[in-house]
Amino acid sequence: MSRPTKAIIDLQALRHNFMLAQSLAAQSKTIPMVKANAYGHGAIEVSAALADIAPALGVASIEEAIELRESGIELPILLLEGTFSSDEVDIAAQHNFWLMVENRPQVEAILNASLARKVNVWLGIDSGMHRLGFQPDEIQSAYDDLSGSHNVSDEIVVCSHFACADDLDNKATLAQIKIFDLHLPKADNAPLKSLANSAAILGWPQAQRDWQRPGYMLYGNSPFAQSQENADQLKPVMCFESAVISVRSISAGESVGYTANWTAARDSTIATVTVGYGDGYPRQAPNGTPVLINGTGCPLVGRVSMDMITVDVTDLDAVAIGDRAVLWGPELPVNEIAELCGTIGYELLTRMPARVPRVYR
Ligand SMILES: *Cc1c(COP(=O)(O)O)cnc(C)c1O
Repeated sequence: MSRPTKAIIDLQALRHNFMLAQSLAAQSKTIPMVKANAYGHGAIEVSAALADIAPALGVASIEEAIELRESGIELPILLLEGTFSSDEVDIAAQHNFWLMVENRPQVEAILNASLARKVNVWLGIDSGMHRLGFQPDEIQSAYDDLSGSHNVSDEIVVCSHFACADDLDNKATLAQIKIFDLHLPKADNAPLKSLANSAAILGWPQAQRDWQRPGYMLYGNSPFAQSQENADQLKPVMCFESAVISVRSISAGESVGYTANWTAARDSTIATVTVGYGDGYPRQAPNGTPVLINGTGCPLVGRVSMDMITVDVTDLDAVAIGDRAVLWGPELPVNEIAELCGTIGYELLTRMPARVPRVYR
């Protein structure tokens, strides 16, 4: 008695992917990125499923972190953009949220706070992505100010983020590593370091440091456009599925859907599936995008509606109301659908709306 559209989330696959990330850099600690509702998979459930094997978690904002705390997650939580206003420093210290520090106002907010408990700091260097972080020549003074503050815990982590690690032939990643290593702050106790995102964990062993920060790979999809030996061991965590709710025969020359942008070249059988852009299935999906009907790839035909899509099932033997449709999942990589739509799997997963129930297995 409910709409069959749902995202089945395989928590064993999630743990497998975490263990893979961990095994690729046995000396590093692995901090799972669960920002943006764990890339659409459900931040609370994903965090709970990793709580016994992960040392900490990463999110984009204090709101995301508080939601996890309130749900009973006790791990430290790294705020990847640090604070947005100075009042967040005290809240972060109280809750054991770790702060990325990327600019001067964030440093000042920490120095000027009066805290009951020290805060753990990750200091960002802009090694070439030019989005966040201190310029290399500013990092020493930021480090000195923070390490000299009684508000800051002893172990500061110095970190940076890669712009092009998903392109395994792109030398920019090596250039970023070099800038990072050259500008590490000098200190009595060498600071801890963190560089690697999913692509670097899988494909750039030179980027291994004390902490690694996998996101996309945990959800079982490859950050690379081509096959790669480590990425090929990932297990997709989400299966986005729905069901056929109508089947009809149309004659050659008849059209389907809004704007009638697809016309049957032959007499055809059209299955309507109850999933649409209101469920996060991309409206950009062109005619021919594969949909698995009873496990067989069939072409999407006609425009994606808010709540429905139409699929050409002429080549299948028998299709009936209630038959299973898979939009993406272990048998149909989200990356493949994303590429047809001019985007990346990250976006398709992350923007899946609350309307789609997440079902955990
Ligand atoms: C999101 C994020 C990551 C994870 O990136 P993936 O490509 O999903 O592995 C790592 N580090 C930082 C700072 C991030 O914001």
